[in-house]
Amino acid sequence: MEIINKPQEMLAWSRQQAQQGKRVGLVPTMGFFHEGHLRLMRRAASLCDRVVVSLFVNPTQFGPNEDLDRYPRDFERDMALVGQEPVDVVFAPTPDLMYLPGYQTEVSVKQLSTHLCGRSRPVHFAGVTTVVTKLFNIVQPNTAVFGEKDFQQLAIIRRMVADLNIPVNIVGHPIVREPDGLAMSSRNAYLDPANRSAALSLSTGLAKVREAAAAGERSVAALAQMLERHIHSFAGTKIDYASFVDGDSLEAMETVDDRTVLAMAVHIDGKVRLIDNGYVLPQQAA
Ligand code: AMP
Repeated sequence: MEIINKPQEMLAWSRQQAQQGKRVGLVPTMGFFHEGHLRLMRRAASLCDRVVVSLFVNPTQFGPNEDLDRYPRDFERDMALVGQEPVDVVFAPTPDLMYLPGYQTEVSVKQLSTHLCGRSRPVHFAGVTTVVTKLFNIVQPNTAVFGEKDFQQLAIIRRMVADLNIPVNIVGHPIVREPDGLAMSSRNAYLDPANRSAALSLSTGLAKVREAAAAGERSVAALAQMLERHIHSFAGTKIDYASFVDGDSLEAMETVDDRTVLAMAVHIDGKVRLIDNGYVLPQQAA
């Protein structure tokens, strides 16, 4: 496995792969790897001849009062983990290599970025779509794998790729969870034992909503009220949003149907903001 820091070296490597007829898969990450990241890498390897993992804590997707400075980082540990995986290159640029002096261009997906996380994180998605566009130009992947955990991010990237004719196949990978249901996240490292219990409010809330829907409840108002009560029954939780939306348009829905996704963001103890999501009703296998 090779570590590349410079965008021009990364591009040269990718061009060489293309010349040899190799298909390149990209997994964009911010590091501090957990099993969720590793599964994305294995998925990319199952689809492509070469796998590039980008590791970049992208400053432009953090708002002024967010956790950029304290975001968990451990490069040595990450390299040890990724060394066990079918990964050819870790692309790990520094912010000054990614954002040259005078930088002023932005890619933004207008409508989809205004919902859900976009309300409380107004600069977040423009930062994501801009850096993902840059990564696509630098790595030139045939395929890029993203987690469904960041459900809105995946919807926005699919839209961007379609709107801008970007020749990359976007693959979504299901949420990888801890045995007790907590969605894996680098930010789980912030949780002390009490907060770790409160963090289960999201996955157990989703399970409760699914149970009620399976028993016939279709009213979003009724499900939302039950969910809110459930989440707030855990000490220290504060809901940022808990929304029932159309899985494609992200528009709010009043009645649950096959397309309804419950998307949640919850603050735990004022310190950690966690997200989770899932379709409310069972989905037909594709
Ligand atoms: P991050 O490093 O948090 O930016 O995540 C990098 C990629 O891993 C994104 O596409 C995330 O959606 C994905 N990811 C993070 N956590 C999980 C998880 N628990 N299950 C599946 N994918 C995940």
